[in-house]
Amino acid sequence: MSESKVQTIFGDKGILLTDWQVEQFEKYYELLIKWNTKINLTAITEYEDVIWKHFFDSASIMFHVKHLSDCETIRLLDLGTGAGFPGMVLAILFPNWRITLVDSLQKRIDFLKIVVRELGLEHVELYHGRAEDYGRDGQFREQFDYVVSRAVAELPMLLEYCVPFVKMNGFFVSYKGRRYAEEMEQSRNSLSELGCSVETVEPYSLGDGEERFLLFIRKNESTKEKYPRKPGKIKKQPL
Ligand code: SAH
Repeated sequence: MSESKVQTIFGDKGILLTDWQVEQFEKYYELLIKWNTKINLTAITEYEDVIWKHFFDSASIMFHVKHLSDCETIRLLDLGTGAGFPGMVLAILFPNWRITLVDSLQKRIDFLKIVVRELGLEHVELYHGRAEDYGRDGQFREQFDYVVSRAVAELPMLLEYCVPFVKMNGFFVSYKGRRYAEEMEQSRNSLSELGCSVETVEPYSLGDGEERFLLFIRKNESTKEKYPRKPGKIKKQPL
């Protein structure tokens, strides 16, 4: 059998996919294109572009996750997952993790339900709603080893959305573009109010050389009771 494109691209970067994972990525691509005509899911539709800009971009955290042991179940939450990026890709790559995807748009959650069913991803849980509400709910608050998020908000606001979900000493990993340094500068107060710090910034590049960055933000203190504030407040008065 000839190697599929997703297998070649991931393989060249050092990520070896099983045949089952390759099948899952191909099916995911098919569903994305099929449902994109009915629901707005992605502006990127060409196969190779989707592999690089959605699949590989989402997967880039793989090179930096610290504990990969099978002994404990790692819990990861993707906030504002949209069509499943990065969270659904990570669900394909980490079948032993417990993955939670949250989005405030019902139609996107409906699409993700189809993906979960068709790809047989039983370790994925989907929730429709806002970060500001789930972040106050004991079932979600401070329950996750990793919280990830891509293209949801500017860092000062994003921290207030995401950090409440992170366990003590766990990480919020923010997927950012070239403006990351400026956003970090604007986030000084937000980082300190939320008791966390940027531990490392990991650069990587996509197929066309486009530069991206993963910000690994460690939670050092339990989140104060008052955070996250109400949606309007977070936007109007970012920390
Ligand atoms: N992470 C995806 C989608 C980015 S679009 C990607 O990188 O492709 C931003 C998504 O975040 C949208 O689907 C929107 O519904 C969701 N979103 C924005 N603010 C949110 C909030 N406060 N709580 C939950 N979801 C939110």
